[in-house]
Amino acid sequence: MKLSDEILKSLVSFPCPQCRYEVEIQLLDVRVQSYRYCPCCRSRIRLVDADGSMFGELEAIDLAMNELTQALKGMS
Ligand SMILES: [Zn+2]
Repeated sequence: MKLSDEILKSLVSFPCPQCRYEVEIQLLDVRVQSYRYCPCCRSRIRLVDADGSMFGELEAIDLAMNELTQALKGMS
């Protein structure tokens, strides 16, 4: 289990652009589907990771965790 997988499962909420209702999504949703319907006003909301920066950061986290794990293994 990668740390980034855990992060992807966490819930985030953001305000609907139409009605300001707080829509809850999993970060995973942003990756696997591009649209969500607002439960309040039923408008279609486009889920985008604007420049892919968020997932770039997640990969960096995995990389850092791997390095840490390797470092710990080297110590024991
Ligand atoms: Zn809405």
